[in-house]
Amino acid sequence: MRTTPRGNNFSNSAGNADTLAPPRNPFDTAKPVDGNLVPSQLNGSYTFDNYIEGDCNRLARSAGLAVANKPGTTSFNPLMVYGGVGLGKTHLVQAIGNHIKATAPERFVLYVSAEKFTNQFIDSVQRAQVQDFANFYLQVDALILDDVQFLANKGKTQEMFFHIFNHLHQSGKQIVMTSDRPPKDLQGLEDRLLNRFKWGLTADVQSPDFETRVAIIRNKMEQDGIDIPPDHVVDYLANSVHTNVRELEGVIASLVAQSSLSRRDIDLEMVKQALRHIIEEVEAEVNLDFIQKTVAAYFNISVELLKDKTRKKEVVTARQVAMYFAKHHTAHTLKTIGFHFGGRDHTTVMHSVQTVSDLVDSDKKFRDQVDELRKKFAK
Ligand code: ADP
Ligand code: MG
Repeated sequence: MRTTPRGNNFSNSAGNADTLAPPRNPFDTAKPVDGNLVPSQLNGSYTFDNYIEGDCNRLARSAGLAVANKPGTTSFNPLMVYGGVGLGKTHLVQAIGNHIKATAPERFVLYVSAEKFTNQFIDSVQRAQVQDFANFYLQVDALILDDVQFLANKGKTQEMFFHIFNHLHQSGKQIVMTSDRPPKDLQGLEDRLLNRFKWGLTADVQSPDFETRVAIIRNKMEQDGIDIPPDHVVDYLANSVHTNVRELEGVIASLVAQSSLSRRDIDLEMVKQALRHIIEEVEAEVNLDFIQKTVAAYFNISVELLKDKTRKKEVVTARQVAMYFAKHHTAHTLKTIGFHFGGRDHTTVMHSVQTVSDLVDSDKKFRDQVDELRKKFAK
């Protein structure tokens, strides 16, 4: 049996003549319902099973798992996960909620974005139902508040959250939050709230490294029930999208659609095509191709030779010049550039760029050649 907390002293309470009745459900204000019947607002497809672990998220993931297994009783309370957009914060905290629900169905888990929380609160003020709003949230056993940065400069909502936070924390209930930046950079949030965040654990999620991106691609394709393309195709994809997981998923979704529509297996050509349509880096992608073609044509060799192992002097020079322009005219990392030049190491690329720079300084004829080429790449 769940009891309705009483005796709160929220200043703008609308009176509590009916505190014994279940508070209104702010997710559906039309119906006053028992907290037990309120859905958790979780998306069941976000689980730990399909949350790929990597250096980028190891601490956050294992803390999340600990919290999911023992909500409210670990020292990770609150658990605050922060990191850039599309890096898996929402997935992770939803996985925590889903895990608790699966292993302890009697617990009332609630996922809510800070934005929705704010809107519900404002709504409750307008309807003079602030007490109901508070009472509803005080019933929660595990509260997951997503994108807490949204509370910045919303004093009254923060005040409400502060009270809810304190009450839940004191009663041994779990609180999980996400933020798009570390707490110390959360301007517009009250210090007393930020101080509470330090009571538990703060863990970040970073951009996934190459190996993690490969694992995410494989996992996603497997889930979508399609054949995993050969390694070099997966590697190419993993190398081309390093912004965030959401964009990577966008490309994968389009590939899966493309593959099933055309009844073709995913190959390199298809990946290149998909990249062209979807992400900004495509520009860099096109540039890299363009640079290779232009430089090869200038030195009268084929693009294949640029990527080849040949150590012939003309080829080596052309290759180094192409790498030099790739470094200066695209956003690609040395590692990625090396990959596109026949899988060379990033140190080789660095060396090439340096060699060309040195030659430009010391050799007038060479400098003229490079300058002539440069005009073709100038934006
Ligand atoms: P955020 O909340 O940080 O902006 P999301 O949690 O919404 O990011 O993640 C964006 C997408 O990427 C989601 O579809 C999520 O499932 C997926 N994703 C992110 N990280 C991982 C991961 N480590 N393993 C599998 N999928 C991931
Ligand atoms: Mg999110």
